[in-house]
Amino acid sequence: MSKRCKVKLDCGGKPPYVPFEKLTTERQALEWTRDLWDWLAENPTKEKGHWPGWKTRVMQPADCPCCGFDEVARRSDENVLSCGSCPLLKLWGNAKLFGAKPESPFLACCRDSSPFIKWKDARYEAKWGAAGKAAKKLANLARKALKAI
Ligand SMILES: [Zn+2]
Repeated sequence: MSKRCKVKLDCGGKPPYVPFEKLTTERQALEWTRDLWDWLAENPTKEKGHWPGWKTRVMQPADCPCCGFDEVARRSDENVLSCGSCPLLKLWGNAKLFGAKPESPFLACCRDSSPFIKWKDARYEAKWGAAGKAAKKLANLARKALKAI
C-alpha cells in the first residue's frame, strides 16, 4: 500500500473509497501538465509535488505527468528509448543536451534553453517572478500540444 493510501485511510475515510485517478492517455498527461504548471505560475515558491491536483491523482515519476505518460507508453519495455513518448518532446528547445546526441529525446526537457531549466534556475536563485514566467511557459507548451492532438 502506498503512503498516500495509508494517509487517506488514517484520515478516517469511509468506504466506498474513491481511487486515485490514473494517468493513461496523452491528452490527460497534457491536461494535468497544463494545470500543474498554471498552478506553479501562481505559486512560484512551490515545488511540483505540492500541486493540490495530486490529492486526487496517482503521483507520477519526477512529479511530472509527461514523464508518467512516457512510462505508460513504454509499458516497462527497457528497449524502448526513454523520453521518446514525452508529449512535449517536439516542443522542447533545440539546444545541445549535455552528454547526449542533440537528436536524442532523452531528457530533452533538460536542455539548457528549456523553460523547465529556466524554472529550476530561477527557483534556485529565488527569482520568483522569473520562476512564475517560466512555469507559465510550460503551461502554454501543454496548451499548444493539446491543440495538436
Ligand atoms: Zn517530465
